Amino acid sequence: MKHFIVGPVELYPFTKDIYNKDYFYFRTEEFGNMVKENMNRTSKLLNNNVENSLIYLTASGTAAMEAVIENCIANNDKALVINGGTFGKRFCELLKHHNAAYDSINLAWDEKLEWAHLLPYAQKGYTTLFVNLHETSTGQLYDIKILSDFCKENGMYLVVDAISTFLADDYDMEKYGIDVTIVSSQKGFCMSPGLSFISFSQRMKDKVLNNDFVKSQYFDFKDYFKNIERGQTPYTPAVFIMYELKAVLDYIDKIGGKDALLKIIEEKCIHFRKLAKENGLAFPEKYPLSNMLTPIICNDIKAGELVKHLRDKYELCVNPCGGALADKMFRVSHIGNTTVEDFDDLIEKIMLSINEIKNKEFAYDR
Ligand SMILES: *Cc1c(COP(=O)(O)O)cnc(C)c1O
Repeated sequence: MKHFIVGPVELYPFTKDIYNKDYFYFRTEEFGNMVKENMNRTSKLLNNNVENSLIYLTASGTAAMEAVIENCIANNDKALVINGGTFGKRFCELLKHHNAAYDSINLAWDEKLEWAHLLPYAQKGYTTLFVNLHETSTGQLYDIKILSDFCKENGMYLVVDAISTFLADDYDMEKYGIDVTIVSSQKGFCMSPGLSFISFSQRMKDKVLNNDFVKSQYFDFKDYFKNIERGQTPYTPAVFIMYELKAVLDYIDKIGGKDALLKIIEEKCIHFRKLAKENGLAFPEKYPLSNMLTPIICNDIKAGELVKHLRDKYELCVNPCGGALADKMFRVSHIGNTTVEDFDDLIEKIMLSINEIKNKEFAYDR
């Protein structure tokens, strides 16, 4: 089975090898030093130069989203959420669950986020903006520049779930004054699922260190900040994924750094979109897309059926869409250990599958 899904993605062979090796006990200086180095190198990739400002949780990305709400939102805060799909909706649900005051800017699935959407919320006492910069459910990559400008003009904190854009598109915390970035292991990092990472600006780190409103014990960031100074966590981490991280960071260095990695993904992305167009396939053009994935719109067959057919007959796994988009669209991811040639094969099999499904329906009709 070959995976063209958003995560977990096709792993690099060198990360799989890690599981055959011995590991060393994690409450040691040796492990702590490796963690500290990994955290520093990851902070550089995020362009965040605040010292000891990156912590990690043994938990999936959603847990990190929830823990950020728990640790960064106080009683007197008022949040604003960009809700353009499944993941924006998740931020809303989590804020509601935590009894936090919030409003959301709700976008139709194919509606591009513009400055005009934000304007009605200016100078209304909102303290924190939450956004999934790449809304993975539709492929829309929001404009970080307008979000950043809006937060600066309104004195707001900017919290970014960058889980599906970091290491697929360009990303820069300092340049855009981003206060919190959430990423997780199974997306752009191309590692096993299980770790999530949270990077803070100085002012948000200070707010977290001084808060007294956190009810969760396991997810109290104050403990994580204290421990990360010596490369440790309050509780047992997913040790092996920390080794995967070192291997992936070494790989990124070896191929020439972050830009070289982004280029590899962009090549696959451009190649696939060109082939898709040549074959008469449609993808959304009203909003900017992340390089991480391409959504394909199905007009004359059900997208969900195509996804199943590709998996059952050709052992190719692409992402279905959820909810109202399930029959309309599917998504093809460009991250992970795949090659340009893999996308040649994928397009060929998508076109075959469409014909096979149509012919089957035709046979039923008769
Ligand atoms: C994948 C993803 C998540 C995290 O989902 P988990 O299943 O909890 O790891 C969160 N936000 C976005 C934008 C994602 O793409």
